[in-house]
Amino acid sequence: MVNLITPALFKKYRTAEQFANAGTAELEAMIHSSGFFRNKAKSIKAASRIIADEYGGKVPATMEELLILPGVARKTANVVLGVAFGKAEGIVVDTHVQRLSRRLDFSKEERPDKIEDDLMKLFPRNKWILLAHLLIHHGRAKCSALRPKCAQCPIEDLCYAEDKTV
Ligand code: SF4
Repeated sequence: MVNLITPALFKKYRTAEQFANAGTAELEAMIHSSGFFRNKAKSIKAASRIIADEYGGKVPATMEELLILPGVARKTANVVLGVAFGKAEGIVVDTHVQRLSRRLDFSKEERPDKIEDDLMKLFPRNKWILLAHLLIHHGRAKCSALRPKCAQCPIEDLCYAEDKTV
């Protein structure tokens, strides 16, 4: 959904300053279909204000600075650092990475920060960015939450998850 929303959004608002000055109702309408649109609009405007005023309109490139921005926690900061800056400071743990880490026995933890710690110990740093992309892609394509497509899974022989469907 985010990928569907962003082309029009980035066409309309081209700088952090423009996002910070966006009309709240207009911004909310543009991101409505992504859910939690009121909170998101508030965070986008507040984060953009900081980026415009304190970072000259450029998104900061460190974990410490990103975590200060409204609406940004470790998952988002890891996405920005990895995808935009090619920096592996940590590993993105979203709902797919969380589920697959348990199914593939990478971690027995529930909390994303603990799962991230386990993954960082298990995998070399130069694989951290790719690992999250692979797990998210596999989670979307095959290893869904309710009914994983295990018969079509290329790593089925390596997996002994309790909720396998074959
Ligand atoms: S075998 Fe099934 S549960 Fe295991 S990784 Fe593949 S799709 Fe997921």
